[in-house]
Amino acid sequence: MKPPAQVACLAAMLAVAFAAAAHAEWLHRDEDGIMGTRITVELWSEDKVAGEAAIDAVMDEMRHIDATMSVYIPTSEVSKVNAEAAAGPVKISKELFDLLRTAVDYSVLTEGAFDITYASVGYLYDFRAHHRPTEAQIKSALPSVDYRNLKFDPVAMTVQFMHPGMRIDLGGIAKGYSVDCGIEVLQKRGITRALVTAGGDSRIIGDRFGKPWMVGIRHPDHEDQVILRLPLSDTAISTSGDYERFFDEGGVRYHHIIDPRTGHSASRVRSATVLAPTATRTDGLSKTAFVLGPEEALKIYNRLPDVDAVLVTPQGKVLYTKGLQPPSLAH
Ligand code: ADP
Ligand code: MG
Repeated sequence: MKPPAQVACLAAMLAVAFAAAAHAEWLHRDEDGIMGTRITVELWSEDKVAGEAAIDAVMDEMRHIDATMSVYIPTSEVSKVNAEAAAGPVKISKELFDLLRTAVDYSVLTEGAFDITYASVGYLYDFRAHHRPTEAQIKSALPSVDYRNLKFDPVAMTVQFMHPGMRIDLGGIAKGYSVDCGIEVLQKRGITRALVTAGGDSRIIGDRFGKPWMVGIRHPDHEDQVILRLPLSDTAISTSGDYERFFDEGGVRYHHIIDPRTGHSASRVRSATVLAPTATRTDGLSKTAFVLGPEEALKIYNRLPDVDAVLVTPQGKVLYTKGLQPPSLAH
């Protein structure tokens, strides 16, 4: 006997539902080389094909940001700005304009510790080649470092350098920004549980079905030792460290975070991990403690209600913001 139409229809629906459930899974991909770093995407997808396509779309977005923002790509918009903005206003895309304005917001928030014009002196370093500038070179380049000499025209959508010898580099914020863009790509496709990482910058949406993601903060001197594990969901996290790109010479560590006031590597902490809702924000704030020192940086972080941080001092002490203080053991 033939089953009534509704029953057949229900059976078909259940079959589809089970087929879909059978394909639901965690997908994971690492890709090296975009923005000079490793990109990782991990997500839960009800459908493997759609999930893989979503990861492809995140990687495409990262490649687009790299092509626009990299100082290592001569055809990028940022390279064009560096070549032409000292001579007059340079028209740029709304995307770059908005990120440059955001970068300046972080300069103000961090009392100048974060400054994309650090590159006016920063370009004289080559950490891979163990090369650093002389004191005389630093002294002559330093007056060009000052975010206040970036002039914006929001109507014409232009940027201009108001001081000769200025350069910008978005290496301290573009990865965080790209992570936020990657998360947006996933959210538009209906993904609700995911992790996107670009180098030291990550953002997590959702959780792992009632369980958090566990993210470790490594020991500054031992890559394989974790000093702290944080259970995380629905947050961004960035870690900056003096062990990422560096060389040691005469007992001094020369590394890639530069103090905009001195032109030297900023070494007042060994690592800084910042938690906040977006990765643009955590990236924009994770260099602060290197330049201002742990006390000043904690004051800034503690003033921002959506920000938490973990700092490792040169003596190996671990310092936390208010929101992460362990509960008092006193009764
Ligand atoms: P990652 O590149 O792994 O995300 P960070 O977030 O710590 O590492 O950023 C370090 C990068 O920030 C440097 O390589 C450089 O491009 C840039 N940078 C260095 N010093 C400053 C500074 N004072 N302000 C803004 N950006 C900086
Ligand atoms: Mg970063």
